Amino acid sequence: MVKRTFSFEFFPPKTPEGMDKLRATRDQLALLKPKFFSVTFGAGGSTRDHSLETVLDIQRAGYAAAPHLSCIGSTHDNIRAILQQYQTHGIRHIVALRGDLPSGMASTGEFRYANELVEFIRSETGDWFNIEVAAYPEYHPQARSARDDLLNFKRKVDAGANSAITQYFFNADAYFNFVDECAALGVTLPIVPGIMPISNFSQLARFSDACGAEIPRWMRKQLEGYSDDIESIRAFGLDVVTDLCERLLKAGAPGLHFYTMNQATLTTTIWQRLGL
Ligand SMILES: Cc1cc2nc3c(=O)[nH]c(=O)nc-3n(C[C@H](O)[C@H](O)[C@H](O)COP(=O)(O)OP(=O)(O)OC[C@H]3O[C@@H](n4cnc5c(N)ncnc54)[C@H](O)[C@@H]3O)c2cc1C
Repeated sequence: MVKRTFSFEFFPPKTPEGMDKLRATRDQLALLKPKFFSVTFGAGGSTRDHSLETVLDIQRAGYAAAPHLSCIGSTHDNIRAILQQYQTHGIRHIVALRGDLPSGMASTGEFRYANELVEFIRSETGDWFNIEVAAYPEYHPQARSARDDLLNFKRKVDAGANSAITQYFFNADAYFNFVDECAALGVTLPIVPGIMPISNFSQLARFSDACGAEIPRWMRKQLEGYSDDIESIRAFGLDVVTDLCERLLKAGAPGLHFYTMNQATLTTTIWQRLGL
């Protein structure tokens, strides 16, 4: 059986206090022995320095770290410089993304899509990096059609991606369908489900609207019904997300990637309930 991969995602804190808090979260989550921690990269490079700082901090503590890298709004020279910086620090794992243009930024720069970034990373650095790309079981919101999105995902794989992490979803069938559709195209790399623990309904609804992740009506209704009752929201979220993870793993998902939102408690509870 292929070894499953479990990983945790952070966003880079902007303040020294935030960094201290993240260290505590990281040390708590490190007890679960994930394969790596990944660190997001602000659109248009807005958090570039914080991302690098956070990745190096994780590395210094003795854990594996994978920076995300988004290319929209960047030039080849910018990206080359970042890759060189990562290589200098011995980083060999990267999550390669297009990203989204921040409002007000007009120019897409020299990269249009993530497949171009993957191609560039391979042409500049050969096999140095283990490259992850993003996958969308419910399809990317800008995709012209489901088929188009699938073929665009394949472009990233053909350009040299090693594995993929999905956008979060609450509908396991969307994931199973996506993996089947990929297999039918000969795309068999590991596609690790991205898991979003639920702590706050309004925030989740906002994110989901923006990224095209569906909150099924039965979940939305129930979550809305809890109003400001955080305890009930969390308890319901833990049940739903643990069930989802269980179903995914039972069906052979090659691991789980948790969007931790820089918090340890919910991810740890789900982990323990899964008996991982
Ligand atoms: C695991 C994960 C981590 C993420 N981390 C970050 C992060 O750190 N920072 C950040 O800013 N954002 C992050 N995002 C969000 C991501 O940047 C957005 O979803 C973005 O809109 C798309 O990025 P992508 O790499 O999937 O783009 P792409 O794969 O380039 O796809 C974007 C859209 O373009 C279409 N497309 C792709 N290639 C082509 C082509 N060659 N021709 C025509 N159409 C094409 C696709 O169908 C899709 O609709 C993350 C998303 C995921 C799932």
